[in-house]
Amino acid sequence: MDYLQLAGKNILVTGVANRKSVAWHTARLLEEAGANVIYSVRSEQRKESLAKLLGDRTVFVCDVEHQAEIDRLKQQVSQQYDSLHGILHSVAFADFSAGWLPFHETPRDAFLQSVNISCYSLIALANSFQELLDKTEGSVVTVSISTTRMAAENYGYMAPVKAALDSSVCFLAKTFSKFSNVRFNAVNPGLLKTSASAGIPGYIDSYLHAEKATLRKQAVQTEEVANTIAFLLSPRSSGINAQGIVIDAGMEINYFDEEIIREDQP
Ligand code: NAD
Repeated sequence: MDYLQLAGKNILVTGVANRKSVAWHTARLLEEAGANVIYSVRSEQRKESLAKLLGDRTVFVCDVEHQAEIDRLKQQVSQQYDSLHGILHSVAFADFSAGWLPFHETPRDAFLQSVNISCYSLIALANSFQELLDKTEGSVVTVSISTTRMAAENYGYMAPVKAALDSSVCFLAKTFSKFSNVRFNAVNPGLLKTSASAGIPGYIDSYLHAEKATLRKQAVQTEEVANTIAFLLSPRSSGINAQGIVIDAGMEINYFDEEIIREDQP
């Protein structure tokens, strides 16, 4: 049975960097469900490095930091497709090249660039693709983080940026509801093993700690995030709008994990 009802649907997937990407896991699932996946990657160089993985699939290039590139993407997609049933926004960037700094010393340019790429790009994509998004079944999904209130030093200013992203999801859902049934949702995963996380200082230690804090003592798998995204992109989730679905294997309620407490005892 075609449970997801995605066969023949056109879905734009942004953010494939490699085989580990949330976007790649999701795209594979969408293709298995019979969807036409349209890929948008960050640069020509990335497109070349993905040539073997993506084969003869349709791949566009769009650096979402620049409005002109978003406009070009919209132009190119609309030349080939009459409508889009979904968009996956799976893009984030933080320039940690200044090294680890206390949060209050966050460089202004780095913070604003991160807001532009990781949050504003969702608004800009939604606005550009407004006409093309299917008014009845259109669904837009972004990838946030399990909590933006856990002040983990090494995650730094990405948490406030993701908080802005979470809030933008609500406002986009509201304004699009004035003229369509297009839905906007986020998935909010815990720590994953991808290239985005590899750039976060001390990530492995946090990952192992987070794994212990899950209820099942096993980290969230990228496939699990992809499964939820595919569901949110599908008409099967039609009643869900302006939400963030936390995918953290129960970590949020396990602050007082017995094993972690025991390990901390002298
Ligand atoms: P990833 O590195 O595979 O994907 C991030 C993507 O963002 C890359 O494809 C990169 O090219 C793209 N990108 C960065 N700047 C861009 C720009 N200017 N224009 C266009 N694309 C740009 O890592 P991922 O973990 O798959 O990340 C996808 C999403 O998942 C991100 O929003 C990330 O914050 C989020 N997320 C990751 C984790 C984790 O632990 N890895 C946890 C929760 C949420």
